Amino acid sequence: MLVRIIGGHGGVAPGFRATSYLIDGKLLIDAGSVASGILIDEQVLIDHILISHAHLDHISDLAFISDNCFGLKAKPFQVYSNQKVKDAIKTHLMNDVIWPDFSKLPNEQRPTMSFNVIVPEKELQLAEYKIIPVTVNHPLGGMGFIVEKKNTSVLFTQDTGPTDRIWEMAHAIKNLKAIFTEVSFPNNLQDVARISQHHTPASMKEEIKKMPGDIPIFLGHLKPNFQTILYKEIEEINSDGRITLLGSDDTSYVF
Ligand SMILES: [Zn+2]
Ligand SMILES: [Zn+2]
Repeated sequence: MLVRIIGGHGGVAPGFRATSYLIDGKLLIDAGSVASGILIDEQVLIDHILISHAHLDHISDLAFISDNCFGLKAKPFQVYSNQKVKDAIKTHLMNDVIWPDFSKLPNEQRPTMSFNVIVPEKELQLAEYKIIPVTVNHPLGGMGFIVEKKNTSVLFTQDTGPTDRIWEMAHAIKNLKAIFTEVSFPNNLQDVARISQHHTPASMKEEIKKMPGDIPIFLGHLKPNFQTILYKEIEEINSDGRITLLGSDDTSYVF
């Protein structure tokens, strides 16, 4: 399984792209930078898009990828999220005011983008991928995803504060090869992290105790303005070298 971090940050600035992880060039998790971060020729090849939650840094490029690929795809992009997130995207983003509703364009029979509702802990089979969505601790029922292909599983929490259920499930996965989760704010902003349901290095240090051991951990969603201090504070909890920070966008990992 090839995981390409198109964008791995919790914000946007020159050199920092918002969250979009692309698996094998076909399955996308979150649409924060997919339109600006890869070629349109590559965007057209994406079949399925999992959306963790409705914050703008995870959905903004649904708008632009629809526009870029309009008329170029044989089949619509299939977008998957929980009901609340689907409703939010259709009400607030693709509402024919902020942006056209590409689920009706060029027509409702053959649209550019189709929206599908998925249910936490109900398994989903998309081509060769078995996916289990799991609710985490983030607004609007934010979800993480456990993605399995052949004998390899990779866990993605996406945005979350301290959470439990996805780690309980992780312990039961025998072929888990990597954990992608987040750290957004430095330790002196622990209150901000708690209120906004995100992690600091200090809260991540506690969170790691809930995870299955010896699995590599990749931390993304660093806020661009705190990149330097987050590097320093993560180093302090990474004595065993288990953590990789997603500090640079457009990096790839094979599992
Ligand atoms: Zn985010
Ligand atoms: Zn968020």
